[in-house]
Amino acid sequence: MNTVITLANRPEGRPEISDFNFETEEKPIPDDGEVLLETKYVSVDPYMRGRMSDAESYVAPFELGEPIEGGIVAKVVESEKEDLIEGDYVSGRLDWKEYQVSDGEELRKVDPEVAPLSAYLGILGMTGLTAYIGLTEIGKSEEGETLVVSGAAGAVGSVVGQIGKIQGCRVIGIAGSDEKVELLKSKFGFDDGINYKTTDDMGAAIAEVCPDGVDIYFDNVAGEISDGVHQHINRFGRIINCGAIAHYNATSVPTGPRVEPMLIKKSALMKGFIVGNYEEKFREAVKQLAQWLGEGKLEYSETIVEGFDNIPQTFLDLFDGKNKGKMLVKV
Ligand code: NDP
Repeated sequence: MNTVITLANRPEGRPEISDFNFETEEKPIPDDGEVLLETKYVSVDPYMRGRMSDAESYVAPFELGEPIEGGIVAKVVESEKEDLIEGDYVSGRLDWKEYQVSDGEELRKVDPEVAPLSAYLGILGMTGLTAYIGLTEIGKSEEGETLVVSGAAGAVGSVVGQIGKIQGCRVIGIAGSDEKVELLKSKFGFDDGINYKTTDDMGAAIAEVCPDGVDIYFDNVAGEISDGVHQHINRFGRIINCGAIAHYNATSVPTGPRVEPMLIKKSALMKGFIVGNYEEKFREAVKQLAQWLGEGKLEYSETIVEGFDNIPQTFLDLFDGKNKGKMLVKV
């Protein structure tokens, strides 16, 4: 038999374990032109919270009673398809199932000899692409500029900061514990960091660590953290709205200081960013990330939880900051 995780309820506010169902079905058999895949690594990502709600977005909501879908690395265990053989590994958007069949059309073949399989869901997958493309296409950093990154110790943030260092920026990270701030400096080479959970006045904290103001703000969280950073944006500053995890579980639209006067006074750019809109850049981005990895210029962290049954809880743990770097489940 085959275990499948489906959406049981559309959560109001913070999702709970009861919003997921475990169901069983017969293990599928591949048809002509299909492969049978065995799930190996599952990526849990904050954006999936949006898909649990029935709201219009850039990606369709999950259907009630249907499998949850996300980034997965899987092994081909049976193949009726010409270009994939038993033992190959693939990554792509797949269902939260132990086994599934696929026509393989949307899947990318990945090589465990080139990089560990988990890396294809992180630094060499959506995470790395988001960091690289968001920073280079919108941030357009120049040597000597100050880059502030929120959600800095997470999957995307930890890579953004390192790319900023490679590009010659002074890099400040904002994260949710002293341990994470220490990691930013010791492992990822950030120049300084702020623990937002022990900081009452984010504006004052930014002023202290960014005496020359903020040229680029890579925003993964939004909310009050960003209100503090926005006060210190420099003239011609660039703000990359990559994520808004501080709002994902909100049941009403949160309000805060209006940013328009700041954007005008500072001639600043604030741009919403979805990595999927930059597909034509993916090849170049992966090549560059792989090169930096090979040269030892990029480090990455992973928080890997074992066991298919732990996928929903691991997803929920993102909202408590239990991960450092990319959060994954190894099946
Ligand atoms: P992370 O690895 O950063 O995990 C989420 C982290 O967010 C947690 O570890 C936690 O760290 C922090 N967090 C949780 N709740 C809050 C809160 N209320 N306020 C502030 N921080 C919080 O996730 P990713 O790197 O995968 O994603 C980062 C952001 O980028 C997300 O918002 C995601 O939706 C977005 N994203 C956007 C993409 C795009 O194309 N636009 C693509 C990929 C991701 P801490 O301990 O520091 O609180």
